[in-house]
Amino acid sequence: MGTETGKAGKEAVRQMQGKYANVIVDISHENVDRPFAYRIPERLRGVPEPGMQVTIPFGRGNTLRTGYIIEVTDEADFDESRMKELDSIREGGAQVESRLIRLAFWMKEHYGSTIIAALKTVLPARKKFKTPEKKEIRLRVSREEARQELLECERKHQNAKARVLRELIAEECLPMGLLAKKLNISASTFKSLWESGIVSIESIPYYRNPVKLDVEREEGRRLSPSQRRIVDDFFEKYDAGDRQTCLLKGITGSGKTEVYMALIEGVVRRGHQAVMLIPEIALTYQTVLRFYRRFGDRVSVMNSTLSAGEKYDQCERAKRREIDVIIGPRSALFTPFPDIGLIVIDEEHEGSYKSETMPKYHARETAEELARLHGAAVFLGSATPSLESFYRAKEGRYRLYTLSERLNGGALPKVYVEDLRQELKEGNRSIFSRRLQALLEDRFARGEQSMLFLNRRGYAGFVSCRMCGHVMKCPHCDVSLSEHRNGTLVCHYCGYTRPAVKICPECGSRYILGFRAGTEQIEEQLHKMYPDKKVLRMDADTTRKKESYEQILASFAAGEADVLVGTQMIVKGHDFPAVTLMGILAADMSLAAADYRASERTFQLLTQAAGRAGRGSRPGEVVIQTYQPEHYSIVHAAAQDYEGFYEEEILYRRLLSYPPAAHILAVQIGAADEEAGAALAKRLSLLAGDLPEGSFLIGPAPASIGKINDVFRFVIYIKSPDYDLLIRLKDRMEKYLKEQDDREGRGRTVQFDFDPMNPF
Ligand code: ADP
Ligand code: ZN
Ligand code: ZN
Repeated sequence: MGTETGKAGKEAVRQMQGKYANVIVDISHENVDRPFAYRIPERLRGVPEPGMQVTIPFGRGNTLRTGYIIEVTDEADFDESRMKELDSIREGGAQVESRLIRLAFWMKEHYGSTIIAALKTVLPARKKFKTPEKKEIRLRVSREEARQELLECERKHQNAKARVLRELIAEECLPMGLLAKKLNISASTFKSLWESGIVSIESIPYYRNPVKLDVEREEGRRLSPSQRRIVDDFFEKYDAGDRQTCLLKGITGSGKTEVYMALIEGVVRRGHQAVMLIPEIALTYQTVLRFYRRFGDRVSVMNSTLSAGEKYDQCERAKRREIDVIIGPRSALFTPFPDIGLIVIDEEHEGSYKSETMPKYHARETAEELARLHGAAVFLGSATPSLESFYRAKEGRYRLYTLSERLNGGALPKVYVEDLRQELKEGNRSIFSRRLQALLEDRFARGEQSMLFLNRRGYAGFVSCRMCGHVMKCPHCDVSLSEHRNGTLVCHYCGYTRPAVKICPECGSRYILGFRAGTEQIEEQLHKMYPDKKVLRMDADTTRKKESYEQILASFAAGEADVLVGTQMIVKGHDFPAVTLMGILAADMSLAAADYRASERTFQLLTQAAGRAGRGSRPGEVVIQTYQPEHYSIVHAAAQDYEGFYEEEILYRRLLSYPPAAHILAVQIGAADEEAGAALAKRLSLLAGDLPEGSFLIGPAPASIGKINDVFRFVIYIKSPDYDLLIRLKDRMEKYLKEQDDREGRGRTVQFDFDPMNPF
């Protein structure tokens, strides 16, 4: 596939003659800040494109070196008379880097960012790292002797030592780091054990493979007839050269992951590599383990908890074809594989596939572009596809596959919708509806587990005065402060903290209180009502530490608690067969968000949450508590009716020209000076000029959060069905900003966000 040409690249060339090329000599992340400009000689005009490898004279002696073109332009940012000339274009060469650079160039064009920011996103960090060592601790005495020693320690209350011995009696040799963390053992304890000759400690160098599991390899399961049909159809078309993007819509538990693995296996057998994207939050030990069982050490994981060294090693292994499969969140797309054959995106509707920093790319479209560069296919999967993807499937742009039954026979749960207004009318002031209480007690009686999900998107635990309505706000940001349990008020945007207030600063009343309908309060309430039941809580506070997330999940899976209370985290892709009741509290909280995706998010969350109950042999029940039982996202979620929801939602999107019916370009302006910011926003909006029919300009207006960290924020929205028009407007604004030198100059910033996921 050495001859294909990037579309974006071609367009760029068409638009201009291309007199100059910006070249980077060393394509490591750290050095892309310093591109060098070269003149393109007459004989090469029209040929150079981003990503191409070139030979250039470099340095004082003009030694010929190899570099990569990152940009071709007509404007010299640099004195032309001092510019050197490009020597030649190298054919073939480093395909991996070329493709990644082309991808970066496409991202810059498509999402509006600088080429440098795009390159930094795409290129791997290139640092040499020392191979680390791992310490292992091993029993040097017989188990019997160790038991004697353990008794001795227990008698002397040497608890730390005793804990280590117990583990070593069970398992003779263990990684020391793990023990230290898990059992909270200090270095001096290890030292004292070592000195007494009971244990040995060894350092062994190890190659950073983030997941080292000694697992039995497992063959794939025999696919069900409906799974088989999908896999066969896919490969029939794949082998005929058809690379249409596919969308698999299948309820949770319908066997999507098994299909992904079969596809990946087939593509690997054909000599290609595969990228498996999973939202970071769903990237659990269980999921990874499943892939390890299937692909052994030919698979690796990329995620944010890896150290830079570990990431570097994974990239090296990918480049050298030592692995065939990478699993990870959106950034795993940029794993430098030489020949990708398939990119799978699970839970493709997840908001986390869109980057919130420049370039604000979406993994789905970026995957499609990357797949084009490699001649690979993209395969999307979800129980509740994004409106975008389902729309494309309906239009015939994506090939739609469906799996509509749960595999291990688990029936869909029974869903109750409870009207909280009615509860209040009838005198129930508790946060639990009477139905939910009754079902909880029923589960307690039967010894089964329940989950309570608090939908708290957009919820801010704010503090207000019940007398005058005054809300405690951050002095630097236009947001309310949140009350924390330790009595402080915190700004979640800038970290500003102040002590709680007892008296309203506005009217002096003492009735200034926080609304704490958070997970903590639910946990407290459960303790009060059912003191003998064990409750686990999972939210941003309890999972701050790296492993605590897995720990809570493992503990709940092991049956160590009756109820798990949590936020979004508990509904994303975990299998708890013993859970037979799911309570969804405040189902409509996410409907309140000022955002055109609010209904879609609510529907997805509720459907996902409902899918958590009854995944084992026992049937599940779901209680949805809401103030808006008649809202279509709640009605359709309760009926598990995706298409019904889609049909209503798409009408609304069409009516208001929201994606996927149209595209939106959000121009986000930040300025330390309020007036200057407003003026800049005004000037930029005027640049849009006369828009064709069906395209609209909204704003400029203060952003939904008008101020963060003393920076005033403004936003302009341009809606149009024509994405290319939006790109041209973006280019026009960029050009203007460059001329004005306004961009990021004098405390101002302008960023572009195409089809934004969150309001600015
Ligand atoms: P999804 O990804 O759609 O949630 P999974 O692939 O995780 O579904 O499958 C759900 C459950 O069914 C898993 O426990 C899986 O091991 C099992 N399963 C999947 N495919 C098969 C099959 N062909 N035969 C038997 N069990 C299967
Ligand atoms: Zn007051
Ligand atoms: Zn703040």
